[in-house]
Amino acid sequence: MSFYVTTPIYYVNAEPHLGHAYTTIAADVLARHMRQRGEDVFFLTGTDEHGEPVALAAEREGVTPRELADRNAARFQALLPQIDASNDYFIRTSDPRHEARVQEVMQRVHDNGHVYKGIYEGWYCPRCADFKTETEIAEGNTCPIHKIPLDREREENWFFHLSRFQRPLERIYAERPGFVLPRQRSNEALSFIRSGLQDLSLSRSKLTWGVPVPWDPSHVFYVWFDALLNYVTALSFAREGEDLSARFWPPTFQLIGKDILKFHAVYWPALLLAAGLELPRHVFVHGYLLMKDSSGEKDKMSKSLGNVIDPFEVMERFGTDALRFYCLREVPFGQDGVVSTVGFESRYESELANDYGNLASRSLAMVARYRDGVVPDVEVDAALVADFEGLGDEVCALLDRAELTGALDAIWQRVRRLNRYVEEQAPWQLAKDPAAAQRLDVVLRSLVEGVRAVTVLLHPYMPATTEKLLAALGRPELALAGAAFGAAPGGAQVEALEQLFPKS
Ligand SMILES: [Zn+2]
Repeated sequence: MSFYVTTPIYYVNAEPHLGHAYTTIAADVLARHMRQRGEDVFFLTGTDEHGEPVALAAEREGVTPRELADRNAARFQALLPQIDASNDYFIRTSDPRHEARVQEVMQRVHDNGHVYKGIYEGWYCPRCADFKTETEIAEGNTCPIHKIPLDREREENWFFHLSRFQRPLERIYAERPGFVLPRQRSNEALSFIRSGLQDLSLSRSKLTWGVPVPWDPSHVFYVWFDALLNYVTALSFAREGEDLSARFWPPTFQLIGKDILKFHAVYWPALLLAAGLELPRHVFVHGYLLMKDSSGEKDKMSKSLGNVIDPFEVMERFGTDALRFYCLREVPFGQDGVVSTVGFESRYESELANDYGNLASRSLAMVARYRDGVVPDVEVDAALVADFEGLGDEVCALLDRAELTGALDAIWQRVRRLNRYVEEQAPWQLAKDPAAAQRLDVVLRSLVEGVRAVTVLLHPYMPATTEKLLAALGRPELALAGAAFGAAPGGAQVEALEQLFPKS
């Protein structure tokens, strides 16, 4: 089966921060997991480069919008290897191939009769690149997100007949309860739809940094239309000489932050309906990683609020895998939650260094000491078989709903189970008693096999660490089919391993 996962494309004006890393890491976990299941995976991320905010920033700096976009897109591209993202392509919306495909799709929307020319007058936030509806305007005609005064804009625009799609969208929400996840976000989007959809400005005439409207080249498309279509256009040119659209469309999961819910849960499906394209199977809306600032106030981690933490520092000190693990472990994926350096250090120490890292190095060390580094070729312990029963299926079922934190927790329960097992069995005691040699064989084999089973399942979360550990276990295979506890035979030669998560 094909599995197509996307992140939002990141607005090129922003400085890459933990919020960007978070969505990309989450998409990466899904992509890696599905590859382990043998699915045909395509994982897309990229940068959103058009629109007024980029044009304005370029003007301020005295460079062209393209120069600014080139420079800033490079910073987002550089983030990907640092967080170990396994994306299959990186799309930039200033790519002429993207622009040509946007024009094709939008021409279809036009030819299907879903656009018209009109006058737009309304409150516009240049930082959001969004016209605000009456309910979205904060006190004193300010942007509730950016806290800056909104501009009153009046211009002749092309409009998208969004209002016509109110009923079709209501029907989709009724028929497909999993279209937008989690449920709470689906309800929010649906109530926005039910409150009445107004037609949407589709183009801007005062701007040149954008994709020209093919039937009226004095206009460029409103940046959101151009940006949303990246999910469609990338498939047509991501592989030289090959169109992947039939193979991967529609997306299986589109991950977004809740700040862009309206665009992805309302405008986006309407646009696809207008273009005659299939809708994504799931739009998954994650929450915010919140930081307590010195005043104890929680706020969204956003550059514009001056409340940025630097994921690069965490990765440099503790490694990429520790950051990946922490983001998905600390805050239930889909909800808001607080992240902090104190919380990070505590998880790092108690879970990564102790629960997991220590378990791994102890297990390997005991096989080396008591069995010359060869995993005994005996049956695994029936007591553990029961505790691992169905774990792989459970993880798959959770990740099929993008429950990244739930799946991680299910795996971690077994990590803890293995730690209890070591304490219960006390192999160092068994080793002193020649009559207990067979029992020691079973315990060592079970321990190593348990570590291997959880490590294969943890691979999407912590790719580098788990690969290193599986190599040391002499069983580098990543396929989930072989992940079940007891699936790998004994007899492997293991290698000693330094601490996977050294304490600082
Ligand atoms: Zn704004």
